[in-house]
Amino acid sequence: MLDNDDFIAWSNENIVAVVGHNGAVGGKEDHKPVTEKDPKTKEEREVCPVYPGLTCKEHQDLRAAFSNPPDGWGKIGQSDGVPNHWMVGPDGACDKVENKDAALPKSLIEVLTTFQKRYEGKPVPLKKWEGYNKLFTDGGKAVEDGKWKVALAAYGKVDADAKKLSKGLVDKLAAKAAELNEKVAAKFTELKDGSDDDAAKLKAIKALRGEVGQKLSTGFLPVVADLDAWIKEAAAKPATEPAAAK
Ligand SMILES: [Zn+2]
Repeated sequence: MLDNDDFIAWSNENIVAVVGHNGAVGGKEDHKPVTEKDPKTKEEREVCPVYPGLTCKEHQDLRAAFSNPPDGWGKIGQSDGVPNHWMVGPDGACDKVENKDAALPKSLIEVLTTFQKRYEGKPVPLKKWEGYNKLFTDGGKAVEDGKWKVALAAYGKVDADAKKLSKGLVDKLAAKAAELNEKVAAKFTELKDGSDDDAAKLKAIKALRGEVGQKLSTGFLPVVADLDAWIKEAAAKPATEPAAAK
């Protein structure tokens, strides 16, 4: 399974695949690490001849950890026979995969997909996940730079997939939007309480309002209502003054 192209392509997007193997069967060592030259650094390194990309120590340590899981890990059950396969959920739940299902990419993918449906929210494939995280990073950087429009546009791109997001991403998006709202509100306070004359303040606050005009699926940022109310009042001032004077 680990060298099946269909399964590799699917698993890279949808699961974390882990292999544990103590390197011995029935007390008899079945393979040993081999030494090779790193093609880039030319340094010698020990690698596993059975599982490309791993060292034997890694798959041996993992095998030991399955029997004696550290805090927070799922407890994988005992099963006769090699290989045996387990699905571990984010809450540590462990279910055995029957060997008949584990032997065929199609059925293994089906079993794993069904298992994932047990969890709240929707699984987010890795490429999407990486894309969202980049948008969060870009948005956060824009917030730091005071580029509200750029930040809101970045979060808006995550929000465009609102219905497909996992709960963790929904929460993260809400936190990011709240942080942006707070920063814009602070800027608004700075401008309206500043020493500029009324006309300059109105201009600056209208510009700020223009930066945060993008609506998310949850609506406008809360600060937009405050900005609109202030602008309405400020814009009405010259008209009300003569009325007040009579
Ligand atoms: Zn090995």
